[in-house]
Amino acid sequence: TLSDRLTGVFDRLRGRGSLNEQDVRDAMREVRVALLEADVALPVARSFIDKVTEKAVGSQVLKSVTPGQQVVKIVNDELVAMLGGEGEDGAQAAPLLLDAKPPVVIMMVGLQGSGKTTTTAKLGRLIREKHGKKALMASLDVNRPAAQEQLKVLGEQVDVATLPIVAGQQPVDIARRAMESARLQNSDVLLLDTAGRLHVDEALMAEMKAVAGVSVPTEVLLVVDSLTGQDAVNVAKSFSDEVPLTGVVLTRMDGDARGGAALSMRAVTGKPIKFAGTGEKLDAIEAFHPGRVADRILGMGDVVSLVEKAAAVVEKEDADRLAKRMMQGKFDMNDLRMQLKQMQNMGGLGMLAGMLPGMKKAKAAMAASNMDDKVLVHMDAVIGSMTAKERANPALMNAKRKKRVAAGSGTSVQEVNKLLKMHQEMGRAMKQIKKMGGLKGLGALFG
Ligand code: GDP
Ligand code: MG
Repeated sequence: TLSDRLTGVFDRLRGRGSLNEQDVRDAMREVRVALLEADVALPVARSFIDKVTEKAVGSQVLKSVTPGQQVVKIVNDELVAMLGGEGEDGAQAAPLLLDAKPPVVIMMVGLQGSGKTTTTAKLGRLIREKHGKKALMASLDVNRPAAQEQLKVLGEQVDVATLPIVAGQQPVDIARRAMESARLQNSDVLLLDTAGRLHVDEALMAEMKAVAGVSVPTEVLLVVDSLTGQDAVNVAKSFSDEVPLTGVVLTRMDGDARGGAALSMRAVTGKPIKFAGTGEKLDAIEAFHPGRVADRILGMGDVVSLVEKAAAVVEKEDADRLAKRMMQGKFDMNDLRMQLKQMQNMGGLGMLAGMLPGMKKAKAAMAASNMDDKVLVHMDAVIGSMTAKERANPALMNAKRKKRVAAGSGTSVQEVNKLLKMHQEMGRAMKQIKKMGGLKGLGALFG
């Protein structure tokens, strides 16, 4: 997986001073293979790598991160940008355009089996429930037997009206009738579910153009199955060459799609991905979330693996020593001091929190407990003022000793108490981690 490869990149880059061209090229080779494995189309992967390389070579490595982490950050940021993400965690998705003269026409196009009809019904439901607008749905699929029936049944399930079926009508005529009906019924939105073929052909494209000609759609949404990977790219290219797409819907994102289709789709059509289908149920649709998909492509969505990466920064001997002590149920002030040092080495708590995408909760918790880098320095001073005996056995710390240590470290008794409490809590957390089976349990600390 990509995360394994990037871990490999991490290992090789760790400890080097800056991002020189060779480092970046080595890293990019891995990223390239990983992108291809995630089903990103070759030309898309190539241009992506070029962009990232240009950004990465010669860029200043922040003092608090390893070059490997820096590269991953650049790769992640570029992925989010390429997926059309904006905002802090790339959560922004392009909205559905509904602010035109009613009936606003939304035309769904795509291959057979891509999920057009299902998505039409899902959008009908969204438009009724979320936008509070009146929708009419019409199936123009005259190729597939019972295709129009299918939409009618789905319409009943989502409580959205469908155009009555008239046998023998051609798609363009159905589109005209749907427009008229939508006007008469004062529908705000008209959803046109068009026919698909197994492959893109001229007849299909001619039909799409003709339907677009009579209905003048505000949105032309290409529906693609995210599991079809490379094929999806060719489909997207053919459609976007022929009909004026306004957006893409990626279906079956609930499957094991690795997100590569999303990156390709966006690059090939230049159009925003507006929704992701996440299941067969009619409420299984979400606004597309570029940040989340970038995580998926990178294989970094899972907090545990991220924490493992953060933990990998810890010197190996120290980690081994700590693990041994944990197994013995020992964790004294010397161990805590080592932990605090490592936190500082990793760039402090802000950096650690920053590495975890979407970890707003962890960040907020740290801010709330005033755990900033200054606190780390104070804590180190407190431990430094303790005697060797006190460090080995913090239970010795009575009121008199606390006062002495506070004075010696230039802090306060409250701060000494805070440290002692933190030591207790960490000791408890480590027992918990041991119970949960080692480092993997660390994720729970941030959950
Ligand atoms: P169409 O030929 O393009 O109209 O495709 P359909 O809407 O008939 O969908 C084909 C199949 O894909 C149906 O069984 C749907 O339930 C299923 N489907 C559609 N979207 C999704 C999705 O997002 N996730 C999953 N798991 N199945 C989907
Ligand atoms: Mg259909």
